[in-house]
Amino acid sequence: MEIDKDFTVLAISDNYTGLDILNSILSPYYTIKMISSTNDALTTLNSSNVNLVILDCAMYGSEGYGFLSEVKSREDTMRIPVILIGDTNQPEFEELAFAFGAVDYISKPFRSSIVKVRVNNQRLMVKQIKAIEELGLLDHLTGIPNRRGFDNKIHLEWLRAIRDKTCISLAIADIDHFKVYNDEYGHAQGDVLLCTLAQKITSMLKRPADFVARWGGEEFVVMLPNTTRKGATAHAEEIRKSVEEMEVPNLPSATISIGVASIFPSINSSVTEIFNMADKALYQAKNTGRNKVCFFV
Ligand code: GH3
Ligand code: MG
Ligand code: MG
Repeated sequence: MEIDKDFTVLAISDNYTGLDILNSILSPYYTIKMISSTNDALTTLNSSNVNLVILDCAMYGSEGYGFLSEVKSREDTMRIPVILIGDTNQPEFEELAFAFGAVDYISKPFRSSIVKVRVNNQRLMVKQIKAIEELGLLDHLTGIPNRRGFDNKIHLEWLRAIRDKTCISLAIADIDHFKVYNDEYGHAQGDVLLCTLAQKITSMLKRPADFVARWGGEEFVVMLPNTTRKGATAHAEEIRKSVEEMEVPNLPSATISIGVASIFPSINSSVTEIFNMADKALYQAKNTGRNKVCFFV
């Protein structure tokens, strides 16, 4: 296992023996910080450069899950991966951990070799995300691809669709009355909404080739290769509905309008064309009541 002292792991448990064990397993490889109360943990997370959290929920029970949910709902901490340690192998706890946003779950009693591998997997993931960020393809606020990342991707899919003679669909989603939302609840809360929305849309993609990006401001674009009008409109409607039902801690829900277009790319057409079509459909959705999906005709 590679030694990487630039990688900082925060271990949280009210069980000192547990902390000692984690420390002895991980400190030969990484920088380890240890904390015995979830109260101090948020302050530590905000003030230091923590790359990964290991949270022992076996001792904290519901308090641990509450803490996880708080980490995942705060814009400044939501992108820090959290591995949960649970007391038993009960599938419902494991399921709960993932539902609350944990990246992994380790059951007690654990083997040190397994902890090492699981932590190293997350370290590699963090490194890869950082490398992609450094290429300038990810949006800093939400962590999802940005316009540049999207451009790279859609051009490849465009060529593939010409070759395979398949249909590409594009959806542009725009938050309704976001200016009012910002004015009413503050720009920082507006940012939380953008992050939550980015995660929500990402989680709703179904196929490996489907791709979402933050296009700018409060606009997101979703590319659906090999998808025709019917499938794309249905998918956009599912996204619209789930955003309408989405809960953001301490904030009212927001809605989005979506413009959808589909095209069989040819050597005579360009990516700009489908963008213009979807944009016109979005304009129509905005002008006919918002919180709806319109297809370009
Ligand atoms: P509509 O329903 O017509 O889309 O209305 P809208 O208010 O959403 O649209 P408008 O284009 O008037 O305003 C967009 C707002 O998005 C204004 C801007 O302050 C806000 N915004 C853009 N980028 C960000 C960001 O990164 N964070 C936050 N919090 N707000 C942003
Ligand atoms: Mg807009
Ligand atoms: Mg808007």
